Amino acid sequence: MSAHGERVTWFYGDEAECPSDQPAPARVHRLILLGAPGSGKGTQAALLVERLGACHLAMGDVFRAARDLPEEERPPAMRSAVEYMNRGELVPDDTVIDLIRDRSKCLTCEQGFLLDGFPRTVKQAQALDELLAEHGVDLSGVLYYDIAEEEIIRRISGRLTCRQCKAVFHEETSPPATPGVCDRCGGELYRRTDDEPESVKTRLGAYEASTAPLVEYYEKRGLLYTIPATGAAETIFARTCDVLGI
Ligand code: AMP
Repeated sequence: MSAHGERVTWFYGDEAECPSDQPAPARVHRLILLGAPGSGKGTQAALLVERLGACHLAMGDVFRAARDLPEEERPPAMRSAVEYMNRGELVPDDTVIDLIRDRSKCLTCEQGFLLDGFPRTVKQAQALDELLAEHGVDLSGVLYYDIAEEEIIRRISGRLTCRQCKAVFHEETSPPATPGVCDRCGGELYRRTDDEPESVKTRLGAYEASTAPLVEYYEKRGLLYTIPATGAAETIFARTCDVLGI
């Protein structure tokens, strides 16, 4: 992966500059990926990164990186954020909005971006609109991965993530060749704290109450593309490419 694809600015903020080591694409995509936890948007994001070259800006990755730091190295703003995350609750809007402000360079990047897990509330969406307007940047669209709740619960409850390369497996539908070991890098597979059943219930509740209203928010602006998120990842990706005309 290129140094740019390491998402240096996304993890450390605007002061940590990504090297501009890639030519600007002919068509810049500035996309938001929307969907309930377990809708598979992370998998689609990884496929889109390969196709478009834009960075996958996953808000959850920023919090997980903070959680993985030794406690004394965790920035103060991140300490309580990590506690919210471990409970499956949303981190307060002001914290998240400050983080995104401090990562404005990612929003103006000439490679475009794939925002995943932000915005998650109408207040965050309004803050993003303001930030984009400040920088004279337009969104290309919002990809909404639409899936029923029963299917989500089935997917999340068997999900296993690699500690090292973050690849995702499923106990039933895509098990690793050796139990507990990542096929891709040999790393250890684990169940994310927030994939435990109690946290999953809380996360789905938070999604329904706070994030689902964004579907209407972006529909009204004519930016929403609804993609049925059932079937194999490749099938869903084919639908995504159709929608984007890529
Ligand atoms: P994700 O990997 O997107 O499911 O995010 C994991 C967790 O990080 C969420 O359950 C929240 O606790 C927190 N989080 C991520 N993005 C946001 C956001 N935009 N607003 C509030 N909390 C967030």
